[in-house]
Amino acid sequence: MDGMTPAFTPHGKHLIAGEWVATQARFPSEPAHGPVHSFSVGTPDLVNAACEAAEEAFWSYGYSTRAERAAFLTAIADEIEARADAITQIGSQETGLPEARLQGERGRTTGQLRLFADHILKGAYLDLRHDPALPERKPLPRPDLRLVQRPIGPVAVFGASNFPLAFSTAGGDTAAALAAGCPVVVKGHSAHPGTGEIVAEAIHAAIKTCGLHPGVFSLIQGGKREVGTTLVQHPLIKAVGFTGSLGGGRALFDLCAARPEPIPFFGELGSVNPMFVLPGALAARAEAMGKGWAGSLTMGAGQFCTNPGIAVVPTGAEGDSFVAAATAALKEVAPQVMLTEGIAAAYRAGKERFESRNTVRTLLATPQEGRSAAPNLYETDAEAYLQDHALGEEVFGPLGLVIRVPGQEAMAVLAKGFEGQLTATLHMDEGDLADARALLPILERKAGRVLVNGFPTGVEVADAMVHGGPYPASTNFGATSVGTLSIRRFLRPVCFQDLPEGLLGEDMV
Ligand code: NAP
Repeated sequence: MDGMTPAFTPHGKHLIAGEWVATQARFPSEPAHGPVHSFSVGTPDLVNAACEAAEEAFWSYGYSTRAERAAFLTAIADEIEARADAITQIGSQETGLPEARLQGERGRTTGQLRLFADHILKGAYLDLRHDPALPERKPLPRPDLRLVQRPIGPVAVFGASNFPLAFSTAGGDTAAALAAGCPVVVKGHSAHPGTGEIVAEAIHAAIKTCGLHPGVFSLIQGGKREVGTTLVQHPLIKAVGFTGSLGGGRALFDLCAARPEPIPFFGELGSVNPMFVLPGALAARAEAMGKGWAGSLTMGAGQFCTNPGIAVVPTGAEGDSFVAAATAALKEVAPQVMLTEGIAAAYRAGKERFESRNTVRTLLATPQEGRSAAPNLYETDAEAYLQDHALGEEVFGPLGLVIRVPGQEAMAVLAKGFEGQLTATLHMDEGDLADARALLPILERKAGRVLVNGFPTGVEVADAMVHGGPYPASTNFGATSVGTLSIRRFLRPVCFQDLPEGLLGEDMV
């Protein structure tokens, strides 16, 4: 930033169906630096107004052309770029993330919107299937059948604190839902309400430019948990896209399942993303891998859902070198500011959980102060890990656990004991092929993405990406929240039988 851009001062209102509205009750932002701003607390009445407007908008937006929706997605990306510096400024103040990181994340966010514009224009996502009529077929004629994917209706979106742009107001869930033809109601994240507001302004401007129904997008700031709980239970909401913690996700998932009309809840939750270090790789490059792990573990203060929190390492001298290199590298990492006070407190609690166990050896313990976090590293063995469920729970932050295993059989048993993960990583050499072949079927059952010789942080937005996995990594193993396949969450197949030509829409031919 050039320092010349005027500061963005949020007005603290909700965007409900094209109008900025305020309520009396207020909640303050909790910025990492810069001024505190005041925001209007959301209410069930506002949730209702936004959902009713979204339903009304669906009757036009759900039947818009793909070209119209592509133009809208592109307009949102343009409007976000037009506010680039102000977004970076407020985003950095609220989250403590460095400006360069937020600039990169903005590029990812606008790139995602443009990717979806291209994707729907190509049309392949509709998965159109046509079985032409066979009137002469015996003993019975076959009717003409056309299957096509249709948008499901209004979608609720909850973004996460750690991606205030790419997994938030105009992030992947919103982009996928709007691309599909679904109006969106976003529950603003309390960790970055001003960032949410300015991005909502960009979407609002794009709605006006494109002449769309204003109910296509609403933003309701939180301030009270009842905003989220009312939203997921609202009868007009047909699906929920959620990125966040296991606790929050599970609570909202249960509410969705208990509705009179249950709806899908696509929760992308936490993960410990185990890495399996095989003996050949260890013999060839133990120190480099240990150092690389430390780098990945501490990137962004460890606040990534794909943070590789666990390294499974054979016992013996080469495994010891890996551990020593990781410990030495982690010692050099300075404390970093965390996204919120609450996340910093949860990090301290996670550290205490490890240090309270006599089955866990402390390799590196650092004092934790206020909202900042420094790395911590622990070691245990496979047996202790498998018996203590709490050791497998995500600690959001730069905390690592090394699990030592006496051999490949023990590694496979341990791998079978892991819960569902977003990612699993193999570090291997040519000589490790047989061991890797034995592990691969296990890892494939555990994770949405299996990597070799890399680190899982940094998720490519692409056609072939899967960002999801078996529970508790996500609440729906058939889905991804990143990449073009994520649009499938907000579509449902409809079969049209024997429709005359005059009734066929652009997507049916
Ligand atoms: P969070 O605390 O669960 O919050 C996410 C959203 O849900 C917020 O809007 C929050 O409201 C709301 N919420 C949480 N619990 C709720 C409840 N009981 N009732 C109603 N609303 C509720 O998560 P976070 O701290 O923002 O994000 C960090 C977590 O996200 C980490 O566990 C990380 O691994 C995970 N994550 C996952 C992915 C992925 O793709 N799998 C990506 C990024 C992050 P408030 O605003 O009021 O708090």
